[in-house]
Amino acid sequence: MPIALYPGSFDPIHNGHIDIAERAARLFDRVVVAVYDSPSSKRLLFNTEQRVELARQTLQHLPTVQVMAYRGLTVDVAHQVGATAVVRGLRATSDYEYEAQLALTNKALAPEIDAVMLITSLQYAYLSASILKEVAALGGDISRWAPPVVVEALLNVQR
Ligand code: ADP
Repeated sequence: MPIALYPGSFDPIHNGHIDIAERAARLFDRVVVAVYDSPSSKRLLFNTEQRVELARQTLQHLPTVQVMAYRGLTVDVAHQVGATAVVRGLRATSDYEYEAQLALTNKALAPEIDAVMLITSLQYAYLSASILKEVAALGGDISRWAPPVVVEALLNVQR
């Protein structure tokens, strides 16, 4: 019964993330979307509770996907939930450097856990949470990139 951990900041979750979660759900019996509590290198717009709630609401159509918050090492959480794979999404080649570094570090810490990289779907290849937030802040229409509940949350932040 293979279980995958899908970790990330999800600040906020968008259609590119959701697409990866849907595809991971087809590959694994269970997928745990793990919302990273405090990424050191990122200034977050939404707090952990909000990011978890938005992820829960937008992934509720996937019965085998659950959402949790986490802090600490990704491999420790993977062990805790019984995951044998860490799923990540890859967009352009620029993602590759970072993801390979992350995957090899995780592999050194926990050799029994494998990284599974899913290539983005073409329509989300240029979508990132930072671009989404920037377009929203400037009043642009983001409805093609994020579900209504996320669009609403971003609009509320701007008010
Ligand atoms: P992190 O801060 O860990 O990079 P993100 O929330 O930015 O977390 O992303 C979580 C995962 O989703 C990462 O593997 C990232 O590459 C992937 N991802 C982000 N945007 C997209 C997208 N448009 N298509 C596919 N995967 C994506």
